Amino acid sequence: MQIVILGAGYAGLRTALDLARFRREQGLDITIRLVDQHPYHQLIQLLHLTATAGITDQKSIYQLDRLLHGRDIERVEGRVTAIHPLERTVTLADGRSVPYDRLVLALGSETSFNAPGAREHALPLHTFAHAVALRKHIIAQFTKAASLTDPTELRITMTTAIVGGGYTGCELAGELAAWADDLCQQTGAPRKEVRIALIEREDHLLPHLGEWASHEAVRRLERLGVNVFLKTPVTQVEPQRLRFADGRMLRAGTIVWGAGVRAPALLAEAGFPTDRIGRVLVDRYLRVSGQAVVFAIGDCAAVSDGRGGVLPPAASYAIRQGAHLATELAAEARGEAPRPYEPVELGEVVSLGPNDAIGSALGVPVMGYPAIMLKRGIEEYYRATIESA
Ligand SMILES: Cc1cc2nc3c(=O)[nH]c(=O)nc-3n(C[C@H](O)[C@H](O)[C@H](O)COP(=O)(O)OP(=O)(O)OC[C@H]3O[C@@H](n4cnc5c(N)ncnc54)[C@H](O)[C@@H]3O)c2cc1C
Repeated sequence: MQIVILGAGYAGLRTALDLARFRREQGLDITIRLVDQHPYHQLIQLLHLTATAGITDQKSIYQLDRLLHGRDIERVEGRVTAIHPLERTVTLADGRSVPYDRLVLALGSETSFNAPGAREHALPLHTFAHAVALRKHIIAQFTKAASLTDPTELRITMTTAIVGGGYTGCELAGELAAWADDLCQQTGAPRKEVRIALIEREDHLLPHLGEWASHEAVRRLERLGVNVFLKTPVTQVEPQRLRFADGRMLRAGTIVWGAGVRAPALLAEAGFPTDRIGRVLVDRYLRVSGQAVVFAIGDCAAVSDGRGGVLPPAASYAIRQGAHLATELAAEARGEAPRPYEPVELGEVVSLGPNDAIGSALGVPVMGYPAIMLKRGIEEYYRATIESA
């Protein structure tokens, strides 16, 4: 059985590594191909650190050849441009065709530039390349500010506006606030001119964590010097300018767009049923609705939370769905019946700068030092699981 996995992110890499282990341990007759547009696995959860020099580029990604070495997983580097479920093939940008017996869609999500001008005038933070570009941009702004004398230009250059109060926005705002001291020292930019605005359309931050977390996140971010604007929908993005629904505007030399995600368009174009943000609809077995041999996991799948809703896009769910699917594909290869995926809410932790974090662990709120330790522990554990699988 030829299993092709599209996407070597949290979900797809886990599926590939676990399947390779099962094949070794159980002697399964399967081949595994892992397709990704990059030669590396990106730690997307840590991009706010990559963007603010909180970790080195080497610690932000893993070269796939190194991770897959000796595991008999064929790595295919290429951008998927089309999927043909009737022919059971996948087309890559360079024209290559990859056939499959079982297909795993694990292509993640993309930034949704859901306001006019956002795509053209704001920077996204969704890939390693975005994080590196954002870091360079911020350093350039601070460097430029060091020699500015015009107060208006200085103010604009030193203002960073982050749109979206989810993981991306909160983690980046906190980290940038902490980095600003070092950055001003290195570049000579005036510290008192640093302005960081976190802008959210709704009346709360971090919707998946509940109301208490939003209050705490606002309080803790403001303590770091971040100005949080709730109930402030952006209606238009222009060069160095945001316009809001209430008529106000904000001028900023750096505008970051983290206000929503959507699944890659090629999934709907392949004819798979999708929801309003392009995620593929799946059944309890993570099988794409109406498809016998195609599965979807992680951010690109609309997976039921068992309570009438859909699971939020989070690395923790992506990893566990990848592990579940590997177990079930191995069971199928042994001729056994599949078991349904049952989501387990272990919780999540969001960092607010290097010295603070907030979240929930098994339904219990955590914040401050215990939350930071938990966050670091989760990261180390993840690194260990992919390095030693
Ligand atoms: C800044 C930021 C901070 C976050 N922080 C947290 C956090 O603290 N905790 C948490 O749980 N979640 C966090 N998330 C969300 C989390 O990163 C995602 O839920 C997770 O990455 C989803 O995993 P995935 O495997 O579905 O997709 P991804 O990890 O995005 O992997 C998708 C893979 O598919 C590849 N791919 C995509 N399109 C193509 C194509 N056309 N052809 C070939 N390859 C393709 C990509 O290169 C990538 O390797 C954060 C996200 C961001 C952006």
